[in-house]
Amino acid sequence: MQFNKSLENIKVYEAGKPIELVVREFGIAPKDVVKLASNENPLGTNPKVAEAICKNAKNAHLYPDDSMFELKESLANRFGVEDKNIIIGAGSDQILEFISRAKLNENSKALMSRVTFAMYSIYALQQGASIIRTSDYKHNSKEFISIIREHKPEVVYICTPNNPTGDATKPEDVFEIIEASDPNSLIVIDGAYMEYAIAKDSSYEITPKELLKYPNVIYLGTFSKAYGLGGMRVGYGIANSEIIKALMKMRPPFNITTLSLASAIVANSDEDFLNRSLELHTRELPRYEEYAKRHSFEFIDSYTNFITWILPKELNSSKVANALLRIGVIVRDLKSYEMNALRITVGTPKQNDRLFKVMSEVLG
Ligand SMILES: *Cc1c(COP(=O)(O)O)cnc(C)c1O
Repeated sequence: MQFNKSLENIKVYEAGKPIELVVREFGIAPKDVVKLASNENPLGTNPKVAEAICKNAKNAHLYPDDSMFELKESLANRFGVEDKNIIIGAGSDQILEFISRAKLNENSKALMSRVTFAMYSIYALQQGASIIRTSDYKHNSKEFISIIREHKPEVVYICTPNNPTGDATKPEDVFEIIEASDPNSLIVIDGAYMEYAIAKDSSYEITPKELLKYPNVIYLGTFSKAYGLGGMRVGYGIANSEIIKALMKMRPPFNITTLSLASAIVANSDEDFLNRSLELHTRELPRYEEYAKRHSFEFIDSYTNFITWILPKELNSSKVANALLRIGVIVRDLKSYEMNALRITVGTPKQNDRLFKVMSEVLG
């Protein structure tokens, strides 16, 4: 069977391992598995969301409101924009897919950081586009601008804070890139972890509203991280209405479910849950920095809900990740990103205690 030639260059996205796999392969009870690999919210399901899901269970036979009016209104209020500036996706991943399909083909180029969210390149490669990467994981505005001038990429991805490294880019650098960009380059500002960056240092905040004045920029946000809806698959794009109109042409009808829609509406207005997520994270993150210092690992200063530990050469990150997996602790190995590093989601105090304990066992 022959498939499109573009598929030959695509590596299947390696998702964080599920709890079920550890239960199945290593015979560990589900309650003893600690999953710190997918940057999920350690607070668990927001009780108000659980209630909204139950209440809407009786509507499973009805298609959801395809205009997503209530959710768009709620997001428009939160960000000070209008409904026509918003598109909703099954995760912001789906919006990345719309962008790629709307902008990229065999003759196009997509520019991104050397180490960044893997789906940017996967969607771009599906379209047969060429990928250009910078020399470093940090978003260096000078380098971005010089590549933009030379290659005129159709799409430029700026992930701030960046996944899987956790660093953030100063808004002045992001704006410098935007100002220097070609009007035909769509600049994607992926703010999947923006809530965590703002909680740590508000000078890193980039608001969707301030991006609206640019005709070639889209901001992406998600309910999967700080809002705790990873399992419901809801994300959004905010941009000027011309961009939104084009992306709406790529959208299948009813692209999020009735239950996802109800969950996101409730989550978006629950500031208390958001604040509790951010407070828990702010309290626990320093413990990961201290652990790393005590064991002489390097770590990347994190603006996200995870931390990236760069291991010394004598410790192979894949071996360490596997050893942790066997005792029921799932972390993300970054070998496939050519880094000898582990990306660990900051969990609850109890989960973090367990991580430190088993990490010390593995190191010993
Ligand atoms: C998690 C994540 C997303 C989107 O996740 P969805 O669950 O699809 O909304 C987008 N970008 C980055 C960098 C992420 O880490």
